[in-house]
Amino acid sequence: MKTIGLIGGMSWESTLEYYRLINESVKNRLGGLHSAKCVLHSVDFAEVAELQRRGHWTDAARLLVAAAQNVEKAGADVVLLCTNTMHKLAEAIQAGISVPLLHIADATAEPIRQAALRQVGLLGTRFTMEESFYRGRLTDRFGLQVVIPNPEDRQAVHRVIYEELCLGVIRPESKAVMAGIMSRLVETGAQGIILGCTELDLLLSEEDCPVSLFDTTRLHALAAVEYALRS
Ligand code: GLU
Repeated sequence: MKTIGLIGGMSWESTLEYYRLINESVKNRLGGLHSAKCVLHSVDFAEVAELQRRGHWTDAARLLVAAAQNVEKAGADVVLLCTNTMHKLAEAIQAGISVPLLHIADATAEPIRQAALRQVGLLGTRFTMEESFYRGRLTDRFGLQVVIPNPEDRQAVHRVIYEELCLGVIRPESKAVMAGIMSRLVETGAQGIILGCTELDLLLSEEDCPVSLFDTTRLHALAAVEYALRS
């Protein structure tokens, strides 16, 4: 079994899910007392969120490259960046290490392609929804058409992520708001919805949505286990 390196803390609420999903999956696949070999570098999310807010992406890249180098030094054979948003810096991070960085968008797009869907809705932070680093990859590498919520709905999703989910706050009202946003995406042609923020699975599940959900946290974690167990 290879060692999985996690760059977590963005937020720690979702890093917990990664740790649980990775270990559950290894246990299911190998049985008995088996658990995942992993190392974790967890950042202070307040520092990262401040750099995002100010648009200081070069400083954020420096911080995350150092984190990736730490997990590599600690023995990681593959690195997971446990956030969709910070994949904006995926190229810089990959350039700083010699083991592969498993891209969260690739882990998500694969099952969408297998389900033969062409058009998907994307929920995430405003960086993930609005910028090209994520949607562009889904389109260029996987031929997917990506639809995003209207500006008002995007603001609502972004707010719920930073002001509630990253703080561990789960509100039924926000669940209802998100369900409304997802049905509007379906009305505009989305055949599935990407939960493109690693905390969204804490709030939403299949029953909140009329089409299939693609949960990036789960898909990313499972892709890492697949990699770690591949001989
Ligand atoms: N975990 C979130 C994501 O998947 C948001 C936190 C962050 O900005 O990194 O995008």
